[in-house]
Amino acid sequence: MGIKTLSQLDPQNARVILRCDLNVPIKDGVITDDGRIRASLATINKLLAGNCSIVILAHLGRPKGERKIELSLAPIAKRLGELLKIEVKFSSAITGVASQARALKSGEVMLLENIRFESAETSKDESERSVLAAELATYGDIYIGDGFGAVHRKHASVYELAKLLPNAAGDLICAEVDVLERLTKNPDRPYAVVLGGAKVSDKIAVISNLLEKVNVIAVGGGMVFTFLAAQGKQIGKSLVEPELIPTVRELLLRAEKLGIKFLLPIDIVVAPEFSADAKPTLVLADAIPADQMGLDIGPASASNFAVAIAQCKTVFWNGPMGVFEFENFSHGTKTIAKALTQVDGMAVVGGGDSAAAVRKLGFADNEFSYISTGGGASLEYLEGKDLPGLVALSK
Ligand code: AMP
Repeated sequence: MGIKTLSQLDPQNARVILRCDLNVPIKDGVITDDGRIRASLATINKLLAGNCSIVILAHLGRPKGERKIELSLAPIAKRLGELLKIEVKFSSAITGVASQARALKSGEVMLLENIRFESAETSKDESERSVLAAELATYGDIYIGDGFGAVHRKHASVYELAKLLPNAAGDLICAEVDVLERLTKNPDRPYAVVLGGAKVSDKIAVISNLLEKVNVIAVGGGMVFTFLAAQGKQIGKSLVEPELIPTVRELLLRAEKLGIKFLLPIDIVVAPEFSADAKPTLVLADAIPADQMGLDIGPASASNFAVAIAQCKTVFWNGPMGVFEFENFSHGTKTIAKALTQVDGMAVVGGGDSAAAVRKLGFADNEFSYISTGGGASLEYLEGKDLPGLVALSK
């Protein structure tokens, strides 16, 4: 599927509506990793160089149609202005702002408040999404989609809106799709996918779909305990999704039949509670005490994963191996990040969380072949799914 590119459309002096992914981690009102804002600059600067005015639509978190002050985009407008070195206007109103949007002069940028404060943005009801999209479409004459992290969502500002106006994909989406095409069209083998993060439910379909495509799968993070439980191990107070145990069991059987190398941790760093100061203890994966929870993969597991990664020519990694935010439980994630930097081939870090994790742990962006801004989006692309936000921008 070919997508229309910004370079092909080359808008000049146009009123542009730009969908970005500015969904950055914020703690106590402070942006802790501005990677996604920086990744959006290329397209914005290109539009400004073409004397366009720009209305930016973006989301933060999952407010579910409610105005939640901690999910306001106001701090993001400020940071975006600092990076662009221009004033970025901020509109706390999302609907009813056509006159302000159309009054923007060339070179002016206005960011609208979190689009997900509108329940219609994420509504399952297409007609509700279409009503919001029709309103947003009055804010400009051209739509540029560049919010890669949201292209797997059939949301009003990602899908329906794109279809109402002349459109194209921004430079970030084009760069992301380039990398993902290289990962899917005949990747150099062996090919490993390393998955972590908190929830199995987010990734079970991905793992299932990737089984036929990869040579190695390694699983860590909070989701690993549902796998260990599926193997009949005691997991103490660790994160678990019991209803998924039968599905995980089937998945492991399928992996075995397919001859996939499916790596699970053999040792675990546990603690009595979920806290930065909790005392870490190393135990074997089949000896997690009842009163402890697993917060990181252990060093032997991390080393096993790293050895497998080093033998691969293509590696895609999504999701931290442990609670990397706490120093004591960050070592597994650090070892895996280091292993990716040493791959003799293509090593891609996928996802906002994983990208923030590697930067927080002191790695530079250029130590990896590519750092994707979209976790869910890149995983769904690798699965071979059609992503609504890309379908809407295709030729
Ligand atoms: P996700 O959004 O699913 O990629 O999950 C990322 C989050 O998973 C990070 O904030 C980690 O702190 C968290 N995480 C990783 N390992 C664990 C674990 N063993 N227990 C609880 N949370 C975890």
